[in-house]
This record gives sequence, C-alpha cells and structure tokens, in this order.
Amino acid sequence: MIPGSFEYFAPTSLNEALDLLKTHGDDAKVLAGGHSLIPTMKLRLAEPAVIIDITRIGDLRGVSEPDGKLVIGALTTHYELESSALVQQKVPILSQTAAAIGDVQVRNKGTIGGSLVHADPAADWPATILALDADLKVAGPDGERVIKATDFFQELYTTALEPEEILTEIHVSIPAANTKGVYLKQYQAASGFALTGVAVLLTRSGDTCQKVAVGVNGVADVAYRATGVESELAGKTLSAENIAAAAEKAADGVDAMEDIHASPAYRANLAKVYAQRAIAQLAS
Ligand SMILES: Cc1cc2nc3c(=O)[nH]c(=O)nc-3n(C[C@H](O)[C@H](O)[C@H](O)COP(=O)(O)OP(=O)(O)OC[C@H]3O[C@@H](n4cnc5c(N)ncnc54)[C@H](O)[C@@H]3O)c2cc1C
Repeated sequence: MIPGSFEYFAPTSLNEALDLLKTHGDDAKVLAGGHSLIPTMKLRLAEPAVIIDITRIGDLRGVSEPDGKLVIGALTTHYELESSALVQQKVPILSQTAAAIGDVQVRNKGTIGGSLVHADPAADWPATILALDADLKVAGPDGERVIKATDFFQELYTTALEPEEILTEIHVSIPAANTKGVYLKQYQAASGFALTGVAVLLTRSGDTCQKVAVGVNGVADVAYRATGVESELAGKTLSAENIAAAAEKAADGVDAMEDIHASPAYRANLAKVYAQRAIAQLAS
C-alpha cells in the first residue's frame, strides 16, 4: 500500500502545469483531489514518475454565472458544488449529485474535474454531466478546445482528453423554468459508489414531455445517454404507462457489465427501475 517514488511539482499557473506535462509526457500524472489517483498508485496500478499537483492553480476553482450558464472550475470540490447557493438555485441536480458522492471527507477533497477525467464507470458525475449536455473546456500545448460531454467518455477509464491536456472548466447551461432534474442512484453497499445511477432532465409543457435527457452510469463500462428513453417519451403525455414504457429502454443497445457486485441483467434492470422512478418523480 505504499506508492512508488515520484518527482513532485506544484505549479501555480495553468501555463506552468502545461509546460511540465509537455516536458514529462507519459511519465507524468496530474494530481487534483487525489482520491482516485493516490489509491491507484498505492495499489501500483499507476506508477507515474512525475506528479503535477494542480491544486495551487486558483483559476481552476469555483463557480461563476456568465451568460445564462454556470462555469465550474475543474478543481471545484464535490462539497463546494453540494453547498453552493448559486448551484442549488440555478442547477440543483448538480448539488444533488455531489451530495450522493462518498462521505464528507471524500467530498471535501475530491474534485468534479478529477472524477470526470478518471471516468470510473461507477462514478456519479458522468450521468449528470451527460444529461445536462455540458461542455468540457480543456487546455493543452496547442491552446484550448471544448469537448461535448457526449464525446468525452470513451471507454473504461478513458476519455477524449489527450495526455498533455488539462480539463479546466465545465460549462452547464442553466435549464429553463419548465425543466427540472433529478439524480437517483443505487448505492453499492460497501463503497457507496453507484451500482447504477440515473440523471434525468425533464422539460414539460403541462402534462406533456417536451424533451427528456437521461444519463446513466454504473451499467456499462462507460456512462451513456439513454437515447431510447428520450425518443420514446418526447412529445407524449407523462402518464405512468408512457413513463414505464420509455424507462424499459434505459439499457437498450448497451453491453452491461459483470463484476463481483452485480450481473449484467441486474444492472440493466436497475437502469430501467431508476429511469422510471426519476421520470415519475419529476412528472408528479
Ligand atoms: C472512499 C472513497 C469513496 C468514494 N466514493 C465515491 C462515490 O460514491 N461516487 C463517486 O463518484 N466517486 C467516489 N469516489 C471518488 C472521488 O469522487 C474522487 O474524488 C474522484 O473520482 C477523483 O477526483 P480527484 O479530484 O480526487 O482526482 P484525482 O484522484 O486527483 O485524479 C483522478 C484522475 O484524473 C486526473 N485528473 C484530475 N484532475 C484533472 C484535470 N483537471 N485535468 C486532467 N486530468 C486530471 C488525474 O491525473 C488522475 O488520472 C470515492 C473515493 C474514495 C476514496
């Protein structure tokens, strides 16, 4: 349980961090909250020769509200998102998702950026970030670019981020007044991670579903948008029957995972159950 030795850098600016990443390439790992990287290093599943601790880069932390959206710095902790009055008021599903993560120690140290880049299939953020259609801003040696959440999560623990890039901001449009969201999860009993988590953003006009966005984690080796549910319910009355029929499609076309915690069939069923519960809660 002791990590291998490594060289440690603590840059105070993004440019300094990017220069260090460029210099050390594949030998280097960025350190944010350390709540996924350090355990991985202790188990020797990762043995970086260089650690670039980005936590002293103040520009990467905090939440602001320019032009009808929330801009969330990658280093913003789960607890900051859980407790921010601005976030609770403008995009409450973000605070709700943060509150579902681990325990208070984990939430005080872990960051939204670290969780998204780590791309653990059982992590909570990806489902919500997908349902919100967030944009992820990254910086690298060639400047900045924006990656859509739907393009970001690629495979198990793999994202569209290049090795020399740093995730800097998450941009979330503030939903209209007739759009409400909820994140529900089945807690894995021992770890508290999501056995399955479902995030839903429902836009309604009276009793009709104008649009629904559904993000799912914990089922497949990568979080996904349940597009079958979305197309089935759009334009329909939010009746119990229509919601149940749409939720049945929550794992359509998905290769569900098998591990010591659950069978593929159980995970796929959880996705349907939680999609139904989440949409019904928003429709009620
Ligand atoms: C006991 C325990 C319980 C937990 N329970 C849950 C849970 O219920 N739900 C849940 O979702 N998570 C849970 N976690 C994980 C936790 O949320 C982590 O904080 C999170 O997964 C990683 O964030 P971090 O800031 O700690 O990142 P780190 O561990 O520092 O980094 C993780 C990875 O991301 C990279 N990285 C970090 N930031 C950036 C960046 N800005 N740009 C580029 N690369 C970056 C690192 O190089 C590393 O590869 C738990 C962790 C522990 C230890």
